[in-house]
Amino acid sequence: MIQTKGYATHDENAKFVPFEFERRDVGPNDILIDIAYAGICHSDIHQAKNEWKDSMPTNYPLVPGHEIVGRVSQVGSDVTKFKVGDTAGIGCFVDSCRECPSCTSGQEQFCHKQAAYTYNGTEMDRVTKTYGGYSDKYVIDENYALKVNATGDLAGVAPLLCAGITTYSPLRRFKVGPGQKVGIVGLGGLGHMGVKLAVAMGAEVTVFSTSPSKEGDALALGAHHFVVTRDPANMTPLTGTFNFILDTVSADHDINPYLNLLGLGGAMVVVGVPASPNVVHSLSLIFGNKTLSGSLIGGIPETQEMLDFCAEHNITSDVEVIKPDYIETAYDRTVKADVRYRFVIDMNNA
Ligand SMILES: [Zn+2]
Ligand SMILES: [Zn+2]
Repeated sequence: MIQTKGYATHDENAKFVPFEFERRDVGPNDILIDIAYAGICHSDIHQAKNEWKDSMPTNYPLVPGHEIVGRVSQVGSDVTKFKVGDTAGIGCFVDSCRECPSCTSGQEQFCHKQAAYTYNGTEMDRVTKTYGGYSDKYVIDENYALKVNATGDLAGVAPLLCAGITTYSPLRRFKVGPGQKVGIVGLGGLGHMGVKLAVAMGAEVTVFSTSPSKEGDALALGAHHFVVTRDPANMTPLTGTFNFILDTVSADHDINPYLNLLGLGGAMVVVGVPASPNVVHSLSLIFGNKTLSGSLIGGIPETQEMLDFCAEHNITSDVEVIKPDYIETAYDRTVKADVRYRFVIDMNNA
C-alpha cells in the first residue's frame, strides 16, 4: 500500500486536519500521480458539511477534491497512455463498470452501476473508500486519468476538471459557434469558464448577473455584453434574440425570463442546482420549439477533448492559490461568492 498524506474533516463542522491513509499499490494499468494542485469545488463544501445527507451522505473522515492535476511519478507495466514525468488530471470519477451503454458510449458519469466517485464514494468493489485530491498522491487506472498538455499555469488547469467540463459539454452538445448569440447566467466559478469557452468557440457572449459590479470582470473575461437582471427593462429588448443560454446559478431564481430570451429553436441548459424547483409553463417551450435541458460534467473522451481545446486556446481558470491551512477560510469565502473565480490548494510540499 502507498502511504498518503492529506487533509480531512471528521465531521460536518468542516475543520480540516492532517490525515494519513493508504492508497492501493500501482497495478498493471495504474498510474501514481503526485498531486500539485486541487481546486475547491462548491460540491466539496456541500459534502464536507454533509449538506447532501439525503442523497449522498458523507462518510467521514472526508478528503474532498475532484479537480486534480499533478505529475505522473510511477506507471504500471501495461500502461500505454502515460509515462513518468507527464502531467495528468483527475476529475469527478475514477472508475466505472466499463460495460453498460453509458460507459461504452464514453459517458461514464452516467454508468448504470454508478461510477466510482473520486471521493466520498467507493471503488467499483463497493468496499474500498475513495479519498480525493486534498492529498499528496492518487493511484488511478490510466483509462480514467486525463492527459494535460497545457504548458502554462498548472494551478489554473485544475478547475477545468470539474468547472471546465461542466460548462464545455453543454456548449458543445448544442453546437455553440460563430454567428450565435449565447447567454451565460451567473458569473461565478462555472460562469467565468462558460464565458471563456463560449468566446473561444466564436460566439457573441452576454453575461447576465444580479451584480452590476461584475461588469468589468465579465468584459475582461471576453464577454461582449453585460446585462443587470434586476431591472426587467434590461431584459425586454432582448426577447427572442438568443440561440443558447447556459444557466450556472445555484441560488433560487425564476428561469422563465431567460426562456423568453431564446429565439426559434433556442436551447437553455441548467448546470446550477437551486434548492427550490422551478415552475415552467409549457407554452414557454411550445412557442418557438425551445429546449430546456440539464447537463452533468462529461465523460472521459469529452473531458480530454475539453483539456485539449483549453490548451490550444490558452484557457485556464482564474484562480486564487492557497495553502492547506486556508481551506476553511476559502470555504467561507466561496459560500459568500468572494473569490475570483476558484480557490486552488497548492499541494506541492504541503
Ligand atoms: Zn465539482
Ligand atoms: Zn457503466
